[in-house]
Amino acid sequence: MTEMVVVRREGLYCVPGDFYIDPWRPVERAVITHAHGDHARWGHAHYLSSAPSVNILKSRLGKDINIEGLEYGERIVRNGVTISLHPAGHVLGSAQIRMEHRGEIWVASGDYKVGPDSTCAPFEPVRCHTFITESTFGLPIYRWDPQQQVFDDINAWWRANAAEGRASILYGYSFGKAQRLLSGLDPSIGPIVCHGAVEPLNRVYREGGVALPHTQLVSETDKADFRHAIVLAPPSASGSTWTRRFGDYSDAFASGWMLLRGARRRRGVDRGFVLSDHADWPGLLSAIRATEAQQVIVTHGSIPVLVRWLCQIGLDAKGFDTEYGEEDDDAPDDAPAPADGGAHAQADAGTDAQADAGTDAQAAAQSDGADPTDSTTAGKPARRRARTRAQPAMSDEEEDEDTGEGAVPAAAAGGEPSDA
Ligand SMILES: [Zn+2]
Ligand SMILES: [Zn+2]
Repeated sequence: MTEMVVVRREGLYCVPGDFYIDPWRPVERAVITHAHGDHARWGHAHYLSSAPSVNILKSRLGKDINIEGLEYGERIVRNGVTISLHPAGHVLGSAQIRMEHRGEIWVASGDYKVGPDSTCAPFEPVRCHTFITESTFGLPIYRWDPQQQVFDDINAWWRANAAEGRASILYGYSFGKAQRLLSGLDPSIGPIVCHGAVEPLNRVYREGGVALPHTQLVSETDKADFRHAIVLAPPSASGSTWTRRFGDYSDAFASGWMLLRGARRRRGVDRGFVLSDHADWPGLLSAIRATEAQQVIVTHGSIPVLVRWLCQIGLDAKGFDTEYGEEDDDAPDDAPAPADGGAHAQADAGTDAQADAGTDAQAAAQSDGADPTDSTTAGKPARRRARTRAQPAMSDEEEDEDTGEGAVPAAAAGGEPSDA
């Protein structure tokens, strides 16, 4: 079979179409799956994205980028390749890219989830010959609880804190996760306060027709009201001086990685809520099956484990090395802020998360009857270290998570669950 999409130095490249998908180096023509920073980078001459992504990309990359928006399902032809975009269910505007050339159909998923999310269009299975899938949570241990149960847990935690006169600070990525969290909050408990990195994205979501409860900035909130408020903030605000203004507070982090004990401990927050915008293990398998693809190419996440699994069920599977995975739940743990020891600390964090995932995954895979020996994460001794909390001076609300979280997660041995 001729390969319609290959990996080049710049990124995934559609050979007959002469364009790149989520390229990590500047190119002439980029087709963008969604606006998270590791997929949508600055510096391309021409961007093509879903229509709902256009405003988000402009707000993140600059108003004057050369960008064209396509409605979901709308088709255009580039060098004989018919391109259409289909909902990926990941964040507002997220799209899978369908490419058809001489009867051959390839689909690149970008990031996706199959579970419910009222803040974006639901994942749409697209039949194809070859499916390029992410694998952020591609280990059998990753199984998400129903979304409503997670929302109920978050509201119960907030209600209990409010009853004690304590602020609730909930950390989640400012684009996507924060808005999904918002959609599940019960505004009758108290005011919903947003960090300056979160509020502009709320605005973009509302302008895109997504209903979200009323939110207010910290500066618009009376100090006395913090005691029964919930505060949504990006992970980079954790442990910073920014949190001092809330007085007594309880804090929590929402991420798929909160399933891992080590990740929870490293975060150093009171609570971890397991909520991800990526497919869990059963979600990945069901999405892959639904495409009816015979060839599957696995990108960022648990490439060897998922490839092996897919080969065992008779599919032609292999991996692609990409440079995705620095933002949202792609990252296996928070990359420590620059003040927190730099590269060495990151390497530790990554290794730790991997050891964690590997050990749990081995147990889970065994209980599932799979042979985990190929998992390069299995059996690595966990390296523990005392976490020294970074204290970056973040006095202003405009601090964006991207500036604090731009570091690349450890390119650790084996490559999972990080893909860096
Ligand atoms: Zn993403
Ligand atoms: Zn990603």
